[in-house]
Amino acid sequence: MKDKILLCLKLLLIVLLIVVGSIISVKVWSGKEEELEAVTEIVIEKNMTIAQIGKVNGLSNIVLKNAFQLQSKEDLQKKFYETGITIEEAKSRIIKSFVLQSEDASKDWKKIAAKFVLWIAFLIFIFTLIRKKKIKTKLRNRLYFIAFVLFGIVLGADPSPMGTIKDNFVLLGSFHVIFPPRVVALFVMLLMVVLVNKFICSWGCQLGTLQDLIFRINKDKNGKPVIAKVKIPFVMTNTIRIIFFLVFAVIALVWAFDIIEPVDLFKIFKPSALGIIGIIFAAIMLSLSLIIYRPWCHLLCPFGLVGWIAEKISIIKIKVNYEKCIACGACVKSCPSTAMEAIIKHKKTIPDCFSCASCIESCPVDAIEFKAGKRQKPTKEILEKLERV
Ligand code: SF4
Ligand code: SF4
Repeated sequence: MKDKILLCLKLLLIVLLIVVGSIISVKVWSGKEEELEAVTEIVIEKNMTIAQIGKVNGLSNIVLKNAFQLQSKEDLQKKFYETGITIEEAKSRIIKSFVLQSEDASKDWKKIAAKFVLWIAFLIFIFTLIRKKKIKTKLRNRLYFIAFVLFGIVLGADPSPMGTIKDNFVLLGSFHVIFPPRVVALFVMLLMVVLVNKFICSWGCQLGTLQDLIFRINKDKNGKPVIAKVKIPFVMTNTIRIIFFLVFAVIALVWAFDIIEPVDLFKIFKPSALGIIGIIFAAIMLSLSLIIYRPWCHLLCPFGLVGWIAEKISIIKIKVNYEKCIACGACVKSCPSTAMEAIIKHKKTIPDCFSCASCIESCPVDAIEFKAGKRQKPTKEILEKLERV
């Protein structure tokens, strides 16, 4: 009972740190909310000049320049009928130009650049530690703590790996536009997944690292879970994740509605944006994280799903050296998910591996490696032994 109370207190402390820290952080960064301005009804008459269209609709010259492909300031004095396009076409162009401009203006580019630079530096540092087999329980927890504080509380909810997918779909569905910097960000993140097994999720994502830490604090002095943990079969979690992704994508593209928005768990790093549904949902998901490994990542995250697919071609990943392996099953037990069981048995479907290095730490004969190359197949003898443990 004492351990359970202590665990609840730890979780509350983490939540308190996030809420207070994030509120302060948003103020310090001058509070750019990364939200789009609403697009209002656009008024155009054939005899208006482009400048008048801008004035009547409150549009900046940049929006007008991009919408009407103006070459010089003088072009602002052109009459609308001289452009040779229809009013409907002009409205559509203005909305697209306005949305892209508004997206651009809503971003704190200095903060975004700082986040990407720090992400890359931090991931290189972690990679070195894993390669040297230096990541042990205490250090792992500290690193997860640093990651969610730095990339979540200090540097905010945006950008996030999930946002690069979700917001691209929503923008495409709502306004038929693509915001190029977000596509570049998605490409960079997928590149990280492909280079080193799901590394951006593993050690960079503010929400992923937070859930990972919460899962790992659920243990007593002897390393036993204070509240029993559950390993849900991957086929079940992945089916839910695929269905959720398809429903989200269809609704976003066809009806221009974002079903993730009210339950977007990344908003815990932007508490003022959490509605009542968001607060209840966050409370449920963070509590669930104590017993289920990364529930958001496994059940709902669009990037989690896309990253899992991209992970199939990851260059550097967890491998078992069967010449050393004694099939004791320690790695399978230490793995927070069902990934290691699938890896060591060389199953066709490998669940998400979050490169946490718990399996490396637990192996008594140093048979697990984090390196490039194909995974070997286990011998029949190893497989039989593994079935018995
Ligand atoms: S799967 Fe998890 S770690 Fe990856 S982007 Fe989604 S929330 Fe973050
Ligand atoms: S313990 Fe599991 S999730 Fe962690 S690195 Fe090993 S296989 Fe991947």
